[in-house]
This record gives sequence, structure tokens and C-alpha cells, in this order.
Amino acid sequence: MAEYTKVVLEESELPNRWYNIVPDLPSPPPPPLHPKTREPIGPDDLTPLFPMDLILQEVSQERFIDIPDEVLEVYKLWRPTPLYRARRLEKLLDTPAKIFYKYEGVSPAGSHKPNTSVPQAYYNAKAGAKKLTTETGAGQWGSALAFAGAQFGLEVEVWQVRSSYDQKPDRQRMMRVWGAEVHPSPSDVTEAGRQIHALDPDSPGSLGIAISEAVMRAAPDPDAKYALGSVLNHVLLHQTVIGEEALLQMKKVGETPDLLVGCTGGGSNFAGLSFPFLREKLAGNMNPTIRCVEPASCPSLTKGEYRYDFGDTIGMTPLVKMHTLGHDFIPDPIHAGGLRYHGMAPLVSHIYELGMLDAVAIHQNECFEAAVKFARTEGIVSAPEPTHAIAAMMREALRCRETGEEKTILTALCGHGHFDLSSYDAYLNGELVDYDLPEAKIADAMSRVPVI
Ligand SMILES: *Cc1c(COP(=O)(O)O)cnc(C)c1O
Repeated sequence: MAEYTKVVLEESELPNRWYNIVPDLPSPPPPPLHPKTREPIGPDDLTPLFPMDLILQEVSQERFIDIPDEVLEVYKLWRPTPLYRARRLEKLLDTPAKIFYKYEGVSPAGSHKPNTSVPQAYYNAKAGAKKLTTETGAGQWGSALAFAGAQFGLEVEVWQVRSSYDQKPDRQRMMRVWGAEVHPSPSDVTEAGRQIHALDPDSPGSLGIAISEAVMRAAPDPDAKYALGSVLNHVLLHQTVIGEEALLQMKKVGETPDLLVGCTGGGSNFAGLSFPFLREKLAGNMNPTIRCVEPASCPSLTKGEYRYDFGDTIGMTPLVKMHTLGHDFIPDPIHAGGLRYHGMAPLVSHIYELGMLDAVAIHQNECFEAAVKFARTEGIVSAPEPTHAIAAMMREALRCRETGEEKTILTALCGHGHFDLSSYDAYLNGELVDYDLPEAKIADAMSRVPVI
């Protein structure tokens, strides 16, 4: 086969169904509980926030769910996305490993997030909603939802975590171009935001706080629904289009991965790439190691406990069983804003408990060092979040140099960093801080997690 660098699919090869891993698991994930009664919730408990199509996907037992034509039409603006072989990086590292990366930065918003914002906007519009509210950390989810709202004629109102709002003014500008309204969170336009402000006027915000604000705005408004960019089963489901494409692309070049790495904030890009490969692993068709990579300052899988906890800071969402650092844990303001979430997707947490995944935590200086090497060889300036996947991939590639193993590594490169250049600036100026996370800080937040 001639030397290839990029593996592309035809538009006609775009997968037309999403993969739901739940029926293939040896045991089902524990059910979400009502925040007050602590009984398992039913579909009706979720109707103030989500349209029925998404609620049914959230609890679906079907292995495959058809992607609606209206969604496929929008996906085709940027999908199928390319898979690259990182030949220049392999040369620099002098490694016998084969390095592949699946690049989601080609979407209009610059990340994998539109894979779910588009179907979420579609199902909400179909159900008659006029408006969507949401939180955003790094601004990527907010932009993805703003773009999707514009496609289906929905208003979008976004609460952006204050530390990112200040670091990344261009993300807000982009959301406004697509027609969204953006508030820094904590804001003074919701009761939740005002409560946090009263406790700490300088609060840098957190995803948990921003979720409280967005939920509080949507719940009482019959024309508004709430959209979440990660964590939930239906979000992970929509992201599996990434892994389905990557399976076809690896097959085209006759490769099977020995290792998959992806960064985990709430777990959606990681699950999107890895779940279809996990299906193949469970079926005995391949045997890759599948590795989550998280920031050392927000290590929900490696340091958190597997317990029922709230998804937001105020405690309005259902209780879900997940790896958590405590719902009011506020991570240090690292540049990978999308990874600053106190919990991990219940589905990823459950599969991790089943022993089917491993996890590592890496400090941000090592991540940016790897990302700069990546940019200087492969050209792509990665978003701060997937620098964690790049760093983990590089650790393995260098290990292969020592051992001579010819491993095939598949990396989730879930977004570009064109709006995150201030974080590269900080790294290049030697100003990036590797925050130590005292056990006491975790223990303190965990002391307020409900005992179920
Ligand atoms: C939102 C985001 C993340 C974190 O969310 P996951 O659900 O863990 O994928 C990571 N990378 C990018 C580029 C993001 O936009």
C-alpha cells in the first residue's frame, strides 16, 4: 500500500446510526435517583428539562439508533472527519509505534461537541421548544450549541464559567455570531449565581455552578429546555459516530489499535471514540487497552469515589452514580476548562468499575510540552483538553522506543486550540502552574456528598 498520511471516508460512508453500549455490558449501570425522594427517576421526572426523544435515548436498551436524516444533513457539513497517521511525530520520537489520531477540530465549532449539539437541537425543535439553556466551561460546548441552535431556529442562552469567560473572549464572540446570549457564571441573573456570589464574590466559577444556573432558568419556562454537552448517556451515544468512522478508517488501512487514549472531562469524546472499539473487543475481534486521561488537578477517575452525587453544585439534578470529587469541588483554573468537572459520565464510571478501562492523570506542563511537539510536527494546534491524550500517547510511544514494541496507538484529538492561544503563551513563557491537589481538599468536598 502506498504511504498514506490521511485516511478519509466518502460522504456516502458516513455512519447512519449511533451505537448504544448499554445492552452489551455484563451488568447495567445503576439508575439515576430523584434528588429529593432518592427513588429511581422515571421519564416524567425529566420532561421539564429534556424532550421525550432524548429521554428515551437516555434509557434506551437498543444497540443501534438511527441518525435522523435532518441530523445527517448537518453532519455532512464536516463529517466524515479525517483520521491521520502521525508519521512526522513518529519520526521525531524515533518510535516503532504507529500513531493515529482522529481529528474532530474540523467541525464548525472546532471540536467534537456539534456531534451532539446538532441532534439535541433537532429533537428539541421537533418537540416545539423555542429556547435552549446551557453551561459551558471552555466555551466549546456553548459555541457548538449556538451553532446548532442557529441550524434549527432555536434561541440559545449560555452560562460560561467565569475563569474561561475571562481567558477566552473570542469564544463568547463566536457564540454571539451564531446568535446566542452569553453570561459569565456565577452571574447575577439567577438565584443560584447570586447565592454563590454572596459566598464568594471572586468565585472563578465551575461547571457545576453554571449547570445550576442553566437548569434554574429552563425548568420553570414551558418554552425552554436545557441541553448538556457531556456526561449523559444520550450525549455519549451521539458521539459514537466518531468511533464508528474510526473503525472503518482503521480497517481501510488494515490496522487494529493496541491502545486507545482520550481525554476525559465528562467522558463524551472518549466514549465516542472508544465505545465502538469496546464493542469489537467484547465480541473478541480485537483487544486494545482503552485509557482515559484526566488532569492531575481534577482527577475524578483516579482520585474520586464511585458514589451517588449531584451533577450540579446546588443539588438540583438527579443523583447519579459516578466517580466524583464532590459536587461543590472547585478545581484549580487550569487551561483545559473542558476537563474541570467534578464527576465522570455514569456510563464511563460504570465501565471503569467493571475493569474494562484504565485511567491516568497528567499535569498541564507535560501536556503542553507534548502538544507543542505535536504542533511542530503534525501542524495542528490542539485544544488544551486533548493535550492530555497527546501526552499519554507520547508516553506510550516513548515507552515503545525503549522496548521496541510496534504498538498501534489511536488518539482522540477532539478539538483545535485556536481560541486557546493564551494557554500556549503561558506555557511558552514558563508561567503554567502544575497545581498540587491536596487530599484534604477532596475529602472536604466529599464530606458533603449525600450518603445513599
Ligand atoms: C468539552 C470538551 C472536552 C471535555 O468533554 P468530554 O465530554 O470529556 O469530551 C474535551 N475536549 C474538548 C475539545 C471539548 O470541547
